[in-house]
Amino acid sequence: ATMPPLLSAIANAGRHGVLVKSAVVMERLGQVDAVALDKTGTLTEGTPRVTDIRPVPGSGLTEDALLALAAAAEHPSEHPLARAVVDAARTRGLAIADTRDFTSTPGVGVTATVADRTVTVGTPARLLDHTEDPDHTATIDAAKTAETAKTAADLENGGRTAVVVLLDKAPVGVLGIADRLRPDAAATVADLTCLTGSTPMLLTGDNPRAAARLAAEVGITGDEVHAGLLPQDKVEAVRRLEARGRRTLVLGDGVNDAPALAAAHTGIAMGRAGSDLALETADAVIVRDELATVPKAIALSRAARRLVV
Ligand code: ADP
Ligand code: MG
Repeated sequence: ATMPPLLSAIANAGRHGVLVKSAVVMERLGQVDAVALDKTGTLTEGTPRVTDIRPVPGSGLTEDALLALAAAAEHPSEHPLARAVVDAARTRGLAIADTRDFTSTPGVGVTATVADRTVTVGTPARLLDHTEDPDHTATIDAAKTAETAKTAADLENGGRTAVVVLLDKAPVGVLGIADRLRPDAAATVADLTCLTGSTPMLLTGDNPRAAARLAAEVGITGDEVHAGLLPQDKVEAVRRLEARGRRTLVLGDGVNDAPALAAAHTGIAMGRAGSDLALETADAVIVRDELATVPKAIALSRAARRLVV
């Protein structure tokens, strides 16, 4: 018997490393005319390294003490930045303390109790903004906060992702983290632009400076770069496109991408770098994290649809 075209397309996509979950998805893939890409773990390899360790002067912390504190709080997290922090601490031979009460806020960071003190690690844009501490329980030193923000901005201008470390809500240091672009990122953006007739959009929770720098390297510029987004903001960006009649493909890896993957016409998750939630939510999974297989799968869908119609 001859296999129906959409089923052979699924088999074919599978051979190329794209696991398409159903014939309906295989068909929808070929309809996409807009693309939204996540940055960290999607366009980048998702194996970032800690490059800078900057205790805030007067915090009384050494580089090692700052890193060990951050690693303890990050230990339970599956975020690529968390793995970078834990790996850096291990490389320096630091002991990683046990924690209690771990919580993670997608797009913001993590908090945990380490030896009866609260340690928070995450994005400077939200953690140094004390309008988000409504109970004002901490005595915040404004000068130290300003100094921490400046250190973070300097690192971000250098293309780093900066994460701040707070001890009992007071900033005690900043870590600079750098990630590499996937080798096929620029070529994939070019192919997707060709296939859909418009430049993909970059949706990231990371800072605007690092986002713009990386976007330029893959040929995404200006209006198409959306930084500092929370998971819900990614959903809204997708909904705006869909409201204009665009059928949007979302490609992402994180827990923070799951709502946007669900809202999209078609959601694709990174199989290796991806979180379990992203893999479950997405309509398809790129098994070996090779971005170039995405345009390939779209082309296979279109070829199959020509046979169906
Ligand atoms: P992206 O959208 O680029 O994949 P995320 O939404 O996952 O990025 O993260 C956005 C920002 O939130 C990060 O750049 C970082 O500042 C902060 N963040 C999120 N999770 C963590 C974490 N586990 N540790 C430190 N910072 C985090
Ligand atoms: Mg991501």
